[in-house]
Amino acid sequence: MARQEFTEETLVLKLGQFREADCWVRFFSPSQGVLTGFAFGGLKSRKRFSGCLDPLSRVLFRVASDRYGRYLTLCEGSLINRFPGLHRNMARFGMAVNCIKFLEASHIGTENASAIFSLTCKTLHLLDTRESVPAFLPLLFRARLTCEYGYFPDLSLCARCRREIKAGDETYFIPTQGISTCKQCRTAQNGAHPVSGDLALALDRVFRADPDQWPGLSVPEQWSAGILHLLDVYVQAHMGLVWTQGGFRAT
Ligand SMILES: [Zn+2]
Repeated sequence: MARQEFTEETLVLKLGQFREADCWVRFFSPSQGVLTGFAFGGLKSRKRFSGCLDPLSRVLFRVASDRYGRYLTLCEGSLINRFPGLHRNMARFGMAVNCIKFLEASHIGTENASAIFSLTCKTLHLLDTRESVPAFLPLLFRARLTCEYGYFPDLSLCARCRREIKAGDETYFIPTQGISTCKQCRTAQNGAHPVSGDLALALDRVFRADPDQWPGLSVPEQWSAGILHLLDVYVQAHMGLVWTQGGFRAT
């Protein structure tokens, strides 16, 4: 690879010290996905990296590779947003870390990096500024991220006969294919979940909600356990990652 240099708004995911004044920074770039760069002297230079080297910060970095494109160096950074509300509230911080760990575990390459960057920044903004957020926000993030990879399910129509699903129907959700069928079109299929029409339509609304709509999502009590379970099943079917002992691992 040839030498490259670029300046871009990024999101700092993680960093670690490797010499007295030097650190490595894992960051998310909307054009290139998850990258790691070295900030030589970064822990001492307030001038070049003022307030930039903290996880969960949105930072404009100037990045350059060495002449053979083998590694990246962060030349300087300007802080755009450090989401201060997140750092003051442990529960919010925990949710943000959970989202970021999933992003790190799931994002390989550059596919849809721009949409995923935008989704992640909107999620952090929500956690930073909104008075209340749903306790299951990390699961909403994982489900939406799965959708952004191209697996947007449609539960409002039968995928075979295209009939609209109605509240009183009996439907079958097939997470691996991201489709539902009506009772008549049902075929014996491994992994088809029987779902009432009401629940299918509520789940469809949850999948379609943008992050700024998440705080206002009203999920009727009797369906919430079912919705959360199906979101989880959906994410696992596509991403193959489960949360275990503080991190995500492949199933
Ligand atoms: Zn049908």
